[in-house]
Amino acid sequence: MSVKRITYKEALEEICKGLGDEEFQRGLRTGVRNAEGKFLKILDAHPELRELASMVEDAKKKVISNLEHYIDMAMESLKKVHAKPYFAHTAEEAREIVAKIIGRGKTIVFSKSMVAEEIQLQHYLEELGNEVWETDTGEFLIRLAGSKPMHTTAPAIHLSRQKAIELLRKKLGIKLPDNAMHEEIVGAIRKFLREKFAKADIGISGGNALAADTGSIILVENEGNIRLVTGYPPVHIAVISVEKILPTFPVALAAAIVQAAWAGLYPPTYLNVISGPSSTSDIERKRVYGAHGPQEVHVVLVDNGRVEAAKHPVLSGQLKCIKCGRCQWECPVWQQTANLWGGPVYGGPMGMGWTAITLGLRDAAELSMLCLGCGRCDEVCPVHVPLSSIIHWLKQQYTGEGE
Ligand code: SF4
Repeated sequence: MSVKRITYKEALEEICKGLGDEEFQRGLRTGVRNAEGKFLKILDAHPELRELASMVEDAKKKVISNLEHYIDMAMESLKKVHAKPYFAHTAEEAREIVAKIIGRGKTIVFSKSMVAEEIQLQHYLEELGNEVWETDTGEFLIRLAGSKPMHTTAPAIHLSRQKAIELLRKKLGIKLPDNAMHEEIVGAIRKFLREKFAKADIGISGGNALAADTGSIILVENEGNIRLVTGYPPVHIAVISVEKILPTFPVALAAAIVQAAWAGLYPPTYLNVISGPSSTSDIERKRVYGAHGPQEVHVVLVDNGRVEAAKHPVLSGQLKCIKCGRCQWECPVWQQTANLWGGPVYGGPMGMGWTAITLGLRDAAELSMLCLGCGRCDEVCPVHVPLSSIIHWLKQQYTGEGE
């Protein structure tokens, strides 16, 4: 199984459908309107965040220029904290590694992860006979809708309150009145997922950052679901793409904070640090792994084109991306199409580069022709990913003007 590639024609059909879909457009407009202004307010009130972003950018450049070294370093550090590291060259390898750890017939709770989406992990594990539940509210709803995430940090941006009510009723038989408000909908989802958390055998998360020097996984969130996914089941599997590695623990923390701030979520409600499985040495100072949290922590590092891209003069710039999704909110094309434009997994300005790296140039080059070249995405990126230059280069590949 691999990501369903879409042709340019299919992508255009999807985009046109989205443009003509009143409900989709209404949901998107409301989401964009509610997000507007949030980002600037945060940066005005906390100017030190810009310094933090600059520090993260420098650290990311350092890692990209020596990516294989930092992958090795992270793998060694993970072993030292008793986590089990794996390296997957491809999406297929990553899925197989996770499937081998899990087996069949298990209950799995997921916390939203773009790389899990990229390697189609949820579908694969379901096909193997596991019961899989996404626990991020937005991601939970789009799974019910059979949709793809329409924004990196706000996957259900296109779904209205009425649509959410309809999905919960139709797909799960949850009784909600027509006029149920947001609080009631969120409460119903919370109640439904409580039982899944309690019986889950495995929790699968992504990672906002991974510290190469300590093997610490950093996860930032507002919902509290990541705490439960990574803390309650006996086994935690983190699937992390290799560009999330940062040289040290403090800068890995900074990367997660910057991601949250540029996603409009500052201060984040929770900042989770996971350095290996839970443990205690309270009985005769003998260290025992597996206390109240997971007994096992497995970390699957996913390459899927990134190691090669790190050596590329243009695409290496995309690896600086921390996937905050700020560029998407700012892009006039994305404001109309959401992630229907950009590729089957990643969308908008950042989508083009990620699609080129993880799927191939051709998949991204055709789609890049829809970019207006206005450069608004460049202006808002916290780590100065040269988004419009990458897209311009992809256009050149499409028209044959590039090298
Ligand atoms: S340069 Fe292209 S991708 Fe960037 S904001 Fe403008 S239209 Fe969007």
